[in-house]
Amino acid sequence: MPKNKKLSLLVCGGAGYIGSHMARMIAESGHDVTVFDNLSTGHMEALKWGKFIKGDLRNPNDVAKAFEDSNYDAVFHFSGLIVVSESVEKPFEYYDNNVTGTINLLEAMRANGVNKFVFSSTAAVYGDPVMDMITEDHPLKPLNPYGKSKLFVEEILQDYAVAYGLDSVCFRYFNAAGAHPDSLIGEAHKPETHLIPNILLSGIDDGRKLKIFGNDYPTPDGTCVRDYIHILDLCDAHLSAISYMENKEGAHVFNLGNGQGFSILEVIKASSEVMGNKIEFDYEPARAGDSPRLVADSSKAVRELKWQPKFNDLREMIETAYRWHKKPAY
Ligand code: UDP
Repeated sequence: MPKNKKLSLLVCGGAGYIGSHMARMIAESGHDVTVFDNLSTGHMEALKWGKFIKGDLRNPNDVAKAFEDSNYDAVFHFSGLIVVSESVEKPFEYYDNNVTGTINLLEAMRANGVNKFVFSSTAAVYGDPVMDMITEDHPLKPLNPYGKSKLFVEEILQDYAVAYGLDSVCFRYFNAAGAHPDSLIGEAHKPETHLIPNILLSGIDDGRKLKIFGNDYPTPDGTCVRDYIHILDLCDAHLSAISYMENKEGAHVFNLGNGQGFSILEVIKASSEVMGNKIEFDYEPARAGDSPRLVADSSKAVRELKWQPKFNDLREMIETAYRWHKKPAY
């Protein structure tokens, strides 16, 4: 983030899990933030920082309104549908929200002379991994419409960089986890599909027994291995991306993960230690489209963005999530 310069930043999807943490971090870093969100999956209660404009990216008139009264230095784009299984059933909704919506946003940026963009992509662009530690040059073969919708946008951004000089950073997130340690905001998806929230919710409410999807994967204990990265570390990288684009033109991609893989059973054990509870679970058939192992090599982000994740301990991440899930504000 450029020092001593107050920036004006637009956060699309700022009422959601990652976007709300981002809006807060921007405001607390002394910059102006405007949130644009249709509140389809986001939460009004998470909108405690900056200005809010309600609107839908699929509607170009709504998007134009978001640019009416501000000259943004950059745009962060967290809006989008994120449930893999749903994307298989509803590809139109995924391409419409995630691709058409993004094109509308990029066009509004062009019309208003804004040329710095930070995009939430995903490890799902890699598909079935052929590397233990995935680097950015791993083959791109997404297995579902969700992953494809993110990859299409990555490619569009490369074309926009060449043709229109629009600079961008795409972050391929591994598994975002945790919440702000003061629990004013946190993770609240309805329905909740993510592993750590589901483990914690089943530990808090005995009525919600955890399901583990698949136990015969080619991993040490048969359950899927993922790389968990704390939400504040993710947001930190986004701020660094703004400084990065000050000196580097073009479209750039970075993995964001911790570089440590944990199986579902290991995450359950760590959660159980944090909660002081035993967590009951049933094995269910594997979910379609799940990769056995997704672990990031994030050394490019460490090197080029001068970024360093601060939450390196899975328990510490789970603790922040638990604080939130015990008493969620929404
Ligand atoms: N998972 C599970 N039970 C749940 C939620 C998730 O067994 O209630 C598994 C899921 O199949 C995957 C891993 O946990 O192997 C991480 O899933 P999540 O949805 O949190 O993130 P993803 O890696 O799919 O983005």
